[in-house]
Amino acid sequence: MKKQHKMIIIGSGPAGLTAAIYGARAGLDPVIFEGPEPGGQLTTTTDIENFPGFPEGISGPELMEKIREQAKRFGAESVMRMITGVDLCHYPFRILDDEENAYLAESIVISTGASAKYLGLESEQKLKGFGVSACATCDGFFYKDKDIVVVGGGDSALEEALYLTHFGKTVTIIHRRDAFRASAFMSEKAKKHEKIRIKWDSVVEEVLGEPGPTGVTGVRIRNVKTAKTETLPCSGFFVAIGHHPNTELFKENLHLDDKGYIITKSGTTRTNIEGVFACGDVQDPDYRQAVTAAGTGCMAAMDAERWLGEKES
Ligand code: NAP
Repeated sequence: MKKQHKMIIIGSGPAGLTAAIYGARAGLDPVIFEGPEPGGQLTTTTDIENFPGFPEGISGPELMEKIREQAKRFGAESVMRMITGVDLCHYPFRILDDEENAYLAESIVISTGASAKYLGLESEQKLKGFGVSACATCDGFFYKDKDIVVVGGGDSALEEALYLTHFGKTVTIIHRRDAFRASAFMSEKAKKHEKIRIKWDSVVEEVLGEPGPTGVTGVRIRNVKTAKTETLPCSGFFVAIGHHPNTELFKENLHLDDKGYIITKSGTTRTNIEGVFACGDVQDPDYRQAVTAAGTGCMAAMDAERWLGEKES
């Protein structure tokens, strides 16, 4: 007979780990499945300067390690496995991990976050890991004194581009329109930077190069207004066009919005299935901040605790 857990948390970014702190303190003995990227997206960022309580800033990996330690201190159990199957149609819920181990859960907190989007070009897929990346903080270091291209026009793209100026000789931003979506502050900062060039109204047609030691050698772009194409030489190609929520496992049972984010009941973390709660980026297309993710993680644990209490009474 499988052990039945009061609370299983899927995903270990700031939302999941905060749910673990609150769940553990409430005596729910949470088990947290850390998934493919333990600590979540923040482990690929450098300094976080807007998380309250760290006036000097803190690195992403360090912040996540501190939150994990805090959760463990109250007894949360962390499991370094991926969840590959979830049965939400029967109660208690049944969860399968990547080694085919099954777990029973009285409540589930989903905090699987979001992942970077790619353009979907064949050449981009072929050169992933050979100059194509979606994480400047992970891979920027490899492009010291090289030409770098960044695709996108939002805050992520400009943040990545500005970060990459620490390494690259030049950083060219390719954006499909003639105005950035990013905040005015970030836009001005990028436009003024001496290493940054901007190609407006342009889309990437092909990433050039060969997998292996050659890697990325350039990118062919097309101006959408003039239809003119040109080739820009570069060694690093960074895609920063947003994220998609990691909801593949739940799409059959949970209500999702048109972009795939889990819909929660207004002002709560409750989903359309009683006993299943969602927090962090997987249900938040708007704010996507570490502090808001942590806040909804706290809410999810409290919602689950209340729900379990109501069920038992
Ligand atoms: P975003 O705001 O959705 O921007 C995505 C950008 O990529 C847009 O400029 C979009 O172009 C472009 N894009 C999307 N699909 C594309 C495609 N297939 N081909 C070419 N370009 C494409 O995403 P984000 O930059 O990741 O930001 C998401 C949220 O996080 C925002 O609310 C942002 O403010 C926040 N954020 C904040 C910070 C910060 O405060 N430091 C840092 C990062 C992110 P269009 O403009 O034409 O749609």
